[in-house]
Amino acid sequence: MALTPNHFLREGLQYGTFIRETNARIGVERYNSIKRGIALKSHSIQNLKHAPNWDPIVRLMDSSKKGSRIFRMLLAHSPKILIPHNIVKFSETTDCVIGKKTSDSLNKLWVYNFLDNATRTFLFKLHNNTLGVNARVSKFIRGHTDMCTFCMINQIEDENKEGVSHLFFSCMTVENLVLNTLGRYLGVEERELVSRGTFFGSFGFEEENKNTTLQIISAWIKKYIWDCKIKGILPTAEQCYSTVKDRIKTTFENSKVFREMVGTSGLNIRF
Ligand SMILES: [Zn+2]
Repeated sequence: MALTPNHFLREGLQYGTFIRETNARIGVERYNSIKRGIALKSHSIQNLKHAPNWDPIVRLMDSSKKGSRIFRMLLAHSPKILIPHNIVKFSETTDCVIGKKTSDSLNKLWVYNFLDNATRTFLFKLHNNTLGVNARVSKFIRGHTDMCTFCMINQIEDENKEGVSHLFFSCMTVENLVLNTLGRYLGVEERELVSRGTFFGSFGFEEENKNTTLQIISAWIKKYIWDCKIKGILPTAEQCYSTVKDRIKTTFENSKVFREMVGTSGLNIRF
């Protein structure tokens, strides 16, 4: 039997009778909350009490019919966890699992106004999958190579396409550089946690400020790699570290928000 709102509306209906009549598998609390909800909201649904042909509630939940949203809200077990579309795609291109919390924090990163505009624009493009890596550009421009800039400079014979994941993390030219630079800010055991997932997503520590600071440091590492790619030069670990160090120092001096974040991050930050 398909439940409709009318099943809840009969005058003086008790839970026991409702269950016997409908065989519905819902507990008394849920029954009461649905009934209460329908009663409370019924004035906003035109002619609810006289509507003989209500869609079954199950269908109502997926429909856009007037009043259906109320039932979605009442009956949905938990609010549907929605990962923003851009991050769903980003997690595919980087081959990472990115949860709701991390996706929210990634989408918040480019909003921090202590970051310079170039970094913010870079992050926006990176997380919205519009960065001009060769694998992407080659789809739009005929004859444009899809190969990795660094691998070409190094004359590496493997055919490495320049996607986001390769360029920033798995390319031979950058893999040690990422580990070295991030490693300097982490404890010895924490260094084991540097991975594709933590570099593109979040470290998932309990302290939020630690996660955010690491996301920002990771963003500066990526920006450094990107700048090298654009200039057509090879990145180095020393240059990467000194670039990130300068960024931290300048931002620390100029932004109270960043100072507080870094100060409570528990990371090994010196300059
Ligand atoms: Zn490469």
